[in-house]
Amino acid sequence: MTPFNELNAPRQLFINGEYCDAASGKQFDNINPATGASLGGVAEGGAEDIGRAVAAARRAMDDGKWATMGSHQREGILHKLADLVEQNAKNLALLETYDTGKPYRDALAVDIPLSVQTLRYYAGWPTKLRGETNPVAGNFLTYTRREPIGVIGQIVPWNFPLFMAAMKLAPALAAGNTVVLKPAEQTPLTALYLGQLMNEAGIPPGVVNFVSGFGGDAGQALITHPDVDKIAFTGSTGTGQHIMRTAADSLKRVSLELGGKSPHIIFADADLKSAMRAIGAAIFYNQGEVCIAGSRLFVEESIYDQAVEAAKTAAEKMRVGDPFDEKTRVGALVSAEHFDRVCKYVELGVSEGAEIAAGGAPIDTDGKGFFYPPTVLTGVNNQMRVVREEIFGPVLSIIPFSSQEELIAQANDTQYGLAAGLWTRDVGKAHTVAHAIKAGTVYINAYGLLDASAPFGGFKMSGIGRENGEDGIKMYTEAKTVWTSLS
Ligand code: NAD
Repeated sequence: MTPFNELNAPRQLFINGEYCDAASGKQFDNINPATGASLGGVAEGGAEDIGRAVAAARRAMDDGKWATMGSHQREGILHKLADLVEQNAKNLALLETYDTGKPYRDALAVDIPLSVQTLRYYAGWPTKLRGETNPVAGNFLTYTRREPIGVIGQIVPWNFPLFMAAMKLAPALAAGNTVVLKPAEQTPLTALYLGQLMNEAGIPPGVVNFVSGFGGDAGQALITHPDVDKIAFTGSTGTGQHIMRTAADSLKRVSLELGGKSPHIIFADADLKSAMRAIGAAIFYNQGEVCIAGSRLFVEESIYDQAVEAAKTAAEKMRVGDPFDEKTRVGALVSAEHFDRVCKYVELGVSEGAEIAAGGAPIDTDGKGFFYPPTVLTGVNNQMRVVREEIFGPVLSIIPFSSQEELIAQANDTQYGLAAGLWTRDVGKAHTVAHAIKAGTVYINAYGLLDASAPFGGFKMSGIGRENGEDGIKMYTEAKTVWTSLS
């Protein structure tokens, strides 16, 4: 493991192709959640820095160098960026681990490869993004163009910092926009590191800007800035609602990827070996800090005991601790605040009548790291707060069901609609239930898969819009219709 200070991680803002301090000179303390110790100060961007970054992005948009560059050339630059991220995989995975507390092996095997895949996928789009000709009445040639929206403000959370940034940057850049991205205050390092890779790839100054800072300060300045044309946000539903309300004033375009409380369903006729094996990873992966975590496990009554046993075994088998230990499967929660939140939710569950089948108490480190073990709650029902609200930690609730109708009603009885998973060998039932569930993604006999080519996003209060695939790039375009008289 490379010590943090040998990584020479950039900790300044990246504006107009250059690293710089915040205008105020302020820094905030960046904490390693696995030790509770400081990793040092990071530039604390505020309204003035957002102003500078937006001005740089506007200039880069208006000079047309990026948006009107030949599509093959833009593809080449974006491919180079993907290659550079791949070449820097080890450094980026180390930084991600220090910043988030997630296991290093996961950062290296999942976060970085998914980021590279996303960058490569969208690198191929500039030559494929096209409009259509429209069969209008009369003697006219009418066609549509897909034009960039302009300056995009992007705000990302802390659970997959680099991957979330890649999911935002790649389609926006492929479509010819310019960007100001604010990483989460808990995890600014990998985004700031990307700055130098942007320059190396040949992305013109001002096309991508990174401003680290707090949500209420830098974030708020970004979402209210009059020269920002669109906000693309991933984070909590509450902040998403605030962004949408704020954007209404200037009618900024908004796309939102928000929270979830996803149902993971096992029917008695499933391949039970595979289904039982999937329970643990669906909720405990990445410390449960996953928006599509299968946090509500619905199991058919006849296999309830078996599922509880499988969940308990998975929870107890997953080693919790030092993110740099190869054997660790569950690292630290991202911050002291989030750790307290998870602790309080489990206490709340118990006060509501839940029983603890595994885990259920924080690991005592005397403030030197924020570790919570995989936890399984039984004796719960779909009305309890612990089952209705997003915990975003390694806490699973198991609920039995007796009929398909009752199951569908319970699975949909939530404000969220991000994902769902179901296990059955009955093909008709699988698709009937998949169609009945109100969620943006449904997995059949699988859970938690993501691919840059497959649309991803939420129904209901889990969001607006779809990232990934063709939908993902269209979200960063305006359609323009051009009419020409032929007479
Ligand atoms: P959060 O909403 O508190 O913060 C997310 C980002 O928003 C951070 O960068 C933060 O600084 C910024 N922010 C906060 N207040 C702001 C404001 N007033 N103006 C502008 N920006 C502001 O969310 P969180 O608790 O840090 O992240 C976890 C949440 O993210 C969970 O609810 C999770 O489900 C969700 N999430 C969703 C997806 C998805 O794709 N649907 C993916 C990952 C995480």
